[in-house]
Amino acid sequence: PSDTGRVLSIQSHTVQGYVGNKSAVFPLQLLGYDVDPINSVQFSNHTGYPTFKGQVLNGEQLWDLIEGLEANNLLFYTHVLTGYIGSVSFLDTILKVINKLRSINPNLTYVCDPVMGDEGKLYVPEELVHVYREKVVPLASMLTPNQFEAEKLTGLRINSEEDGREACAILHAAGPSKVVITSIIIGGILLLIGSHQKEKGLKPEQFKIEIHKIPAYFTGTGDLMTALLLGWSNKYPENLDKAAELAVSTLQGLLRRTLDDYKQAGYDPSSSSLEIRLIQSQDEIRSPKVELKAERY
Ligand code: ADP
Ligand code: PLP
Ligand code: ZN
Repeated sequence: PSDTGRVLSIQSHTVQGYVGNKSAVFPLQLLGYDVDPINSVQFSNHTGYPTFKGQVLNGEQLWDLIEGLEANNLLFYTHVLTGYIGSVSFLDTILKVINKLRSINPNLTYVCDPVMGDEGKLYVPEELVHVYREKVVPLASMLTPNQFEAEKLTGLRINSEEDGREACAILHAAGPSKVVITSIIIGGILLLIGSHQKEKGLKPEQFKIEIHKIPAYFTGTGDLMTALLLGWSNKYPENLDKAAELAVSTLQGLLRRTLDDYKQAGYDPSSSSLEIRLIQSQDEIRSPKVELKAERY
């Protein structure tokens, strides 16, 4: 492991605002990574706005790009990062890409945010759940589901910290040695639960971080969180708790700033979802002040 790397990031692009690659590429670059983005869609803005326009890349077009890179011997990557994926055919091609890249670098780390939904609602086609469960999870090195996604992937209902830890253990058995449930609400408290199984068959090292919930709704935070977890866990490969502290602390700093900026502009932060102040938070991204500490189980 080294403290840098070359990341292939396959995610959405929006012209305006920060979701998908727009919220993942810049922070990874700030942390010292070479990042090669493939834009799985190009939309005018994120889909939470009243309307959006744009184009969607299909599986064949993705594979075209990979063939172009391969023809020039440019397929050496240390990491692949994937987020929102809208169709089975695109997800199947991602699997092909991972296998291809692993044939070139067997140590390739695949960081997968299995974006499927939130708060009980699925926002991808139902048939994707099965593909994630059966084919994607087994290939992932690190998985970053939210509560709903962890439930979909394990079939568990997560009502307690114990359930969350159990879900992580089930996911380890299916593939990834690192699992971070990035947001889960238990007893009204927002938590992150992390789990690192250092060797197959061994009991995973698990921890939680209690997150101060900021009273607003933001978009792009899940994508940013996964990018930061990739960035920091590569620098501290044996300390997932430390990587998560750094990632959560970055988010806290950035979301506070975002909220303050909106308030200063006389905007009511509860009226709609807020665009994160990513560029303005660059110092925070480079050197986050760790205020929220991980607690080991
Ligand atoms: P997902 O989109 O995958 O459900 P979230 O966007 O809910 O994930 O959360 C990702 C991370 O962003 C959380 O771990 C947390 O650190 C941060 N976050 C998002 N929304 C808030 C909020 N309202 N208050 C505090 N932290 C938040
Ligand atoms: N990708 C696109 C194109 C989106 O429109 C959105 C949210 O609207 C996201 C990703 C997800 O963002 P988040 O990180 O908040 O889950
Ligand atoms: Zn998410």
